[in-house]
Amino acid sequence: MMPAISREEQFQRAYRIVEVARQKSRYYGERYKDLGEIRTYEDWLRIPFMTHDALYNHTYPRSLAMLTMPVEGMVVTSTGGSSGFARYGVLTYDEWDAFVRVQAEALKLMGITSTDLVANLFVAGSLWPSFFSLHEVLKEVGAVHLPISANIEIDRILAYILEFKPTVLLSLPTVFVFLADKIIQQKLNVSHVRMIGYAGEHMSENIRKHLRNAFGEDVQIRALAYTSADCGLMGYQCDQCDAKVYHVPTDFQFIEIYNFEEDRICDSGEPGEVVVTNLARVSFPIIRYRVGDLATWQTSPCLCGDRNPTLSLGGRAGDDFKLGGAFISMSTVEKAIAPFVSRDGISANYQLEVEDISENKMRIVLRIESSDIENSKRRVKEIEESMKHRIDEIKVGEDLGYITFEVHFVELGALPRSPITGKVKRLKDKRVEEAQP
Ligand SMILES: [Zn+2]
Repeated sequence: MMPAISREEQFQRAYRIVEVARQKSRYYGERYKDLGEIRTYEDWLRIPFMTHDALYNHTYPRSLAMLTMPVEGMVVTSTGGSSGFARYGVLTYDEWDAFVRVQAEALKLMGITSTDLVANLFVAGSLWPSFFSLHEVLKEVGAVHLPISANIEIDRILAYILEFKPTVLLSLPTVFVFLADKIIQQKLNVSHVRMIGYAGEHMSENIRKHLRNAFGEDVQIRALAYTSADCGLMGYQCDQCDAKVYHVPTDFQFIEIYNFEEDRICDSGEPGEVVVTNLARVSFPIIRYRVGDLATWQTSPCLCGDRNPTLSLGGRAGDDFKLGGAFISMSTVEKAIAPFVSRDGISANYQLEVEDISENKMRIVLRIESSDIENSKRRVKEIEESMKHRIDEIKVGEDLGYITFEVHFVELGALPRSPITGKVKRLKDKRVEEAQP
């Protein structure tokens, strides 16, 4: 079981990190110089929040200002830059080992054992830690590691899967969707896969359904962990956790859920933004960092008996787009597409592009990957209707002539992937991108 410590012990460790940070890091020294003593939680609440931008501007190799020690005996990792530019972090090897142990414990809790044959299908390279960290994590679990990666052709990945017959596959939802498309298209038998473990992206109900169509109804689909490349593992799941619910490893991270509109800590049961202080990292302290995720503390303890509290994740802040004054959630788009996925070659990998084409005209294009484009095209009208039925703003905009909306099918693998993480960006809002150079 994952170690659990009390809130009081968490504060004690968090205060110590703040003290080291202000004494030894130029950045924190300057930022915290007027804070005074941090002794109680009341004091703690005065500590300013850290943003993505601060991390980007003050981190190695751009600056040494955040570090509390010289750069030696460390590993450098990247966040992948999927939410803007890449940010980098450093960990001493001891801190790295702590990160590996927590991740290994999470895999054991998922039920992965030494008898499992585990296919590692993350993207390697570009300082992205998922692929190479899994080797050490699986070594700690004692499982058999198949370091296949997602950097190679999808057909070669499939060939390895058919040859070695792994029991567990670990990767991103984008990669699993691609595999499922191929498996359905070629009617392959992959019944040896008992578990799919994902990380890095949200796994929608659409994708789950699509994976069950490919891998069989009985395949277990589990979140590998709730992690961020900036802070490491922030949540893990037990048998009792629903898809979006995670135990917080209190021994490793101090998590607060904050209401930024009202500038206060959220009560349990009340949604807010995740703010994290890493308790195991001193070389490059992460203190009160706004991760960008929304979550809610669960009001009752988990039935599994683990003392670590649980939170329910509620998507990323900003995972929606504005249309005619309304905010449209990407989950609405998911629902509109849901009835068509896995049928007629239609994939669960798609991208919605929103763009201003002139002063008063907007173009919205939904591109969906397909293993059989001719066949999928027969569904274009129905998908358009389903979208307009759920998103009234598109229907009204089209009727009034200021929105054009199109559905296109593209080859499997044709949507642009992040070269670092391998993720498909589901929303490409060019209006927002242009406003943020
Ligand atoms: Zn539990």
